[in-house]
Amino acid sequence: LDPLLHVKKIVTFLPNIRWQCGFTGSNGLLVLHPAGNHFVTDGRYETQAGQEVVGATVHVARNGLWEYVAAAGLLDGDETVQVQAEYLTLADLNKLRQLFPTLQVAPVERMLDVAVACKTPDEVARIQAAQRLSEAVLAEVLAGLRPGLTERAVAAEIVYGHLRRGAERMSFDPIVASGPNSALPHARPTDRVLCPGDVVLLDFGCFLDGYASDMTRMAVLGEPTPEVLEVYQVVQMAQEQAIGAARAGMTTKALDAVAREVITAAGYGEAFPHSLGHGVGLQIHEWPSVSWRTEDILPENAVITIEPGVYLPGRFGIRIEDLVLLKPDGCVRLTAVSNELQVLVQ
Ligand code: ZN
Ligand code: ZN
Repeated sequence: LDPLLHVKKIVTFLPNIRWQCGFTGSNGLLVLHPAGNHFVTDGRYETQAGQEVVGATVHVARNGLWEYVAAAGLLDGDETVQVQAEYLTLADLNKLRQLFPTLQVAPVERMLDVAVACKTPDEVARIQAAQRLSEAVLAEVLAGLRPGLTERAVAAEIVYGHLRRGAERMSFDPIVASGPNSALPHARPTDRVLCPGDVVLLDFGCFLDGYASDMTRMAVLGEPTPEVLEVYQVVQMAQEQAIGAARAGMTTKALDAVAREVITAAGYGEAFPHSLGHGVGLQIHEWPSVSWRTEDILPENAVITIEPGVYLPGRFGIRIEDLVLLKPDGCVRLTAVSNELQVLVQ
């Protein structure tokens, strides 16, 4: 028997609150306990919380959430509670200690991460719908991509294309990186004007129905140079091998290594400085990080990105990113568009 089974858990991270009970507002805390869950928010969200929250009693605080927790007796004051180590602020902790001087506060890392990572079929469908929307925008943007546009103008089209099709918002500021800017793994769009022969890296996604999409595709304005083609084939091979190997039960480190070995064997190991991928869901970046630095077991029904890259400073960079759903015997690609280099001959 787990002695911690009856210990209360306090959830303060909003995406986790949403995942657990459905609340989409900007202020609240959730007390989880087998005898009954309690959600506390402020007066602005009284109606919304009543409509959204499932599986917890809704409370509306008039004078601060923690003060309400104390006044309503949602904690005993003389017990152990688990809190989210990464998300409970020092201000929250000070408040807890003031209001409950004998409370034992036990910080827990990654309290809900594994549970959040395992998607239901409904969650997978929402991620896929967001991805389809982004793919429609990609087709439109590729059709209009030409020398003379600035990176910022292309980024603006990406944002407008998503919002016009009903996306809630972008899942992050779109990356449009042309020519040598593509060698910066996290480039921001600039006023650089696209030129004939440029490589263009496009990395974007949106939120639809709460869930995120994420994709990176590469275009070249004209015929690619032999070097661009060579590096593209290496990155594509690394991605294909990783997608072929990805399955639930393997470690994040082992999956990262599949792609990294392909890139290293081709002589570009030093030019792949980031991890292979990340979880996607209610947040654009979720646990697990698929990296040589982590050794987590990939859970069944997790949705992760597979995004190897090679970046040659001052020249160009290549990244290709797809979404996959992990199963015990392999993975299902959630990205429907081809991962081929888009050669746009004007
Ligand atoms: Zn991305
Ligand atoms: Zn990503």
